[in-house]
Amino acid sequence: MKLVLIGIQGAGKSTQGNFLADKYKIPYLSSGHIFRDMAREKTQIGRWLKETINSGALVPDDKTLEIILTYLEKPEYANGYILDGFPRTVVQADAFNGGVDKVIFLEVSDKEALWRLAGRSSDRGDETIHAIKKRIDLFHNFTEPVIQFYKKEGKLIVVDGEKNIDEVFKDICKELDK
Ligand code: AMP
Repeated sequence: MKLVLIGIQGAGKSTQGNFLADKYKIPYLSSGHIFRDMAREKTQIGRWLKETINSGALVPDDKTLEIILTYLEKPEYANGYILDGFPRTVVQADAFNGGVDKVIFLEVSDKEALWRLAGRSSDRGDETIHAIKKRIDLFHNFTEPVIQFYKKEGKLIVVDGEKNIDEVFKDICKELDK
């Protein structure tokens, strides 16, 4: 099963992704995590990634595709994955043709997401108010079209992400097990 989780920062993607990985025995993978790991490297690309991520901007599509598609060639992803954070633009979704069975959109309002993020402590460089606002804007401009893209393909599952964690998980499983 090749799943993709979509939602704004604070929507609960990593929580639900880890629950799903446990239940369906498929690996969970976050593009943000891969990029943050690479950003720690003291190389030119590491420094550039750190700057890009901390500003709240997206990594350009060509670099993202190169890095994530190479990563997904690892044998542990041969039987499926739960992807969080990729694809995030229509260009990426187009290029990832064949890589997705179902897309789960965790729907959470900007207000609720900001409220949740304000209440969690973080040492991430991209969790400043400025970077968070930028990422929410980018979500509306670049990732919402991805939701429409998968809706047209008949792959979209929309779940109310404002319910409590267990209820959201139940709703996702109900849809996947149909
Ligand atoms: P996330 O943890 O998914 O919010 O990702 C953290 C940061 O990594 C993002 O703000 C982007 O700078 C970068 N990133 C992660 N996934 C992507 C992607 N699919 N396309 C472009 N940039 C990405």
